Amino acid sequence: MKKFIVTALVILSLMLFLIPATIQADNGLSVVESSVDISFPQKITFNISAASDVPITDIRLHYEVERSSFAQVTAEIYVGVIPAQSIETQWIWDMRRTGGLPPGADVIYWWTITDAAGKKIETAPQTVQFNDGRYDWKTIQQGQVTLNWYEGDDSFAEELMAATQEALMRLAANSGASLESPVSLYIYANQSDLIGAMIYPQEWTGGVAYSQYGIIAMNVEGTQSRIESGKRTISHELTHLVINQVTNNPYNYLPNWLNEGLAMTSEGELELSFILALSRADAENSYISVRSLCSPFPADINQTILSYAESYKIVSYLINEYGRDKMFELLDTFRQGSGYDEALKKVYGFDMDELNSLWRSE
Ligand SMILES: [Zn+2]
Repeated sequence: MKKFIVTALVILSLMLFLIPATIQADNGLSVVESSVDISFPQKITFNISAASDVPITDIRLHYEVERSSFAQVTAEIYVGVIPAQSIETQWIWDMRRTGGLPPGADVIYWWTITDAAGKKIETAPQTVQFNDGRYDWKTIQQGQVTLNWYEGDDSFAEELMAATQEALMRLAANSGASLESPVSLYIYANQSDLIGAMIYPQEWTGGVAYSQYGIIAMNVEGTQSRIESGKRTISHELTHLVINQVTNNPYNYLPNWLNEGLAMTSEGELELSFILALSRADAENSYISVRSLCSPFPADINQTILSYAESYKIVSYLINEYGRDKMFELLDTFRQGSGYDEALKKVYGFDMDELNSLWRSE
């Protein structure tokens, strides 16, 4: 894995976006050229050259990352300059210091430049897409979903796209939730390619949903069994994206059992390993409580499997017993920032402790 990352660093492909120098201020202060280089996933280099009749004294870069967030942050970078009538400089956004961005994330940026006469210009905002230029991406699109891939033929991509559409239909039937804004899937051909797309990868990573960006990056190898598990991963991660869109609020997160349970039900039938975990817990009376399942799942692999399996069962119980509209009402209640017990009581008339015994008596 390490070896791959080193190789990826060496063969980093550079993408160059040149923006013609059209910005002229009538006072003589002007931008000569502005461009951006992307070295995915490590950095973005912003280049600027400007000229004026008098020395330029101040150059600042401003940028924002496009994502759903309650406080959109604009970064303002003071690019240190030695005053001169003509200046060519750059600023490097080193993701190793700030944390990375997913492939396909949009960054909006502009410059402000001031000269010694106190004249100031601001360039028009430009959008640059943080693309993974290491591969030759192909794209298909259906509804709100864009799927990007580089290995395998069209039918491979179409099969995965069909799985996304089925997952969205299943989710809508179960919960009434549907995509509110577009999503992009990036399908890597294997795990090391996927890991090469991340700044701080975890070795087990098979797929990541970047909910705030509406982006999923995952790997699907071309063999049939891998495609089958890939379709499950897509359905699962896509559900997280949709649920994030319909419940996003600045006050509260969803209980984990609800988020993971919905993602599991979108995958389809429960897989054998989960069924076995449930029968073991049933025999040993070692179920994890609904209340404990609100928090991040335990690290122990058997406990993790049981956590997902129970989440599937709890959510299935709510959907089967009370239907889609109640589930949608529950999600909507969470969107308003409700507490866990409070939301359950309001929608179903019972709290988490009661739910704990109810789903097990099924
Ligand atoms: Zn999940």
